[in-house]
Amino acid sequence: SATVEQILKWMDDYAVLIRRHAADLTELDRLIGDADHGANMQRGMEAVLKLEGKEFHDASTLLKRVGMTLVSSVGGSSGPLYGTFFIRMAAAFAAESEDQKLISAETFGKGLHAGVEGIAARGKAEAGDKTMLDAWYPALAAYDKALAEGKGFHDSLEAAVLAAEQGAEDTIPMVAHKGRASYLGERSAGVKDPGAASSALLLRAAFDTFT
Ligand code: ADP
Ligand code: MG
Ligand code: MG
Repeated sequence: SATVEQILKWMDDYAVLIRRHAADLTELDRLIGDADHGANMQRGMEAVLKLEGKEFHDASTLLKRVGMTLVSSVGGSSGPLYGTFFIRMAAAFAAESEDQKLISAETFGKGLHAGVEGIAARGKAEAGDKTMLDAWYPALAAYDKALAEGKGFHDSLEAAVLAAEQGAEDTIPMVAHKGRASYLGERSAGVKDPGAASSALLLRAAFDTFT
């Protein structure tokens, strides 16, 4: 299970990974978009890092604040999409437990599902449209399967991150049907979707943080 402090550390770790991969993410977006995905995510996560010194009573309050910060600080379409993800995850945590000081693996899974449903509702993309959802859907399936097999939080997150990374790789041959990359039509094939890559990093950070 995860404490509020660990959730904050998750955001810290994600900010570090985004910094490290910002140039790569922007390069992917240069090839099939407008060359700003790394910069967008970095701006958003630097703003999230400023939440650091503040006291958060529970995970739900913290993640709602993270989501609102991303919506307001990221210009691109990824801002509202990631923002919605965290705001929906926060709502799922709030609905799940009276005491949100400790988030169980099951509750975390419910938060992931709610977040991804939020991305789908907001962006109206489907599996195979070459978006971040193509990292998220296989990750959710792998996480659920691992938990059902009795695996713990850490191992289930490992299954999820591996599936997300594979899902991001699998966007390479896809033709984009949503977002800026879709303007390229068939020419969007051959490049990994930047949002799928940054989504896999979010799970990579979770795997690094939660034990
Ligand atoms: P922008 O396209 O506005 O410049 P970014 O470059 O930050 O925003 O983010 C692009 C990423 O957003 C894409 O790689 C894709 O994963 C994701 N994306 C774009 N549109 C959608 C959508 N409708 N549904 C899901 N994800 C989307
Ligand atoms: Mg872009
Ligand atoms: Mg843009």
